[in-house]
Amino acid sequence: MPYEDDDYEDRIQFADPGSGSALRAASKSNPRNRPCPRCGRKNVLTPLDVAHHYVCDHCANAAERGLDY
Ligand SMILES: [Zn+2]
Repeated sequence: MPYEDDDYEDRIQFADPGSGSALRAASKSNPRNRPCPRCGRKNVLTPLDVAHHYVCDHCANAAERGLDY
């Protein structure tokens, strides 16, 4: 099997690889047009993020610090 065909998941573009954010980069087929399910901010998530049950960076950072609101 060609290596490229086995590598798709590793080649997903992350929105900001340096920040540790797990959110996917927005694109034409994956626009950042969905609200955060936790805080309700608009246009902070892409459909792929929602499919993975992610929250926005703000909520993710708050969760990492043990904050909840
Ligand atoms: Zn949020």
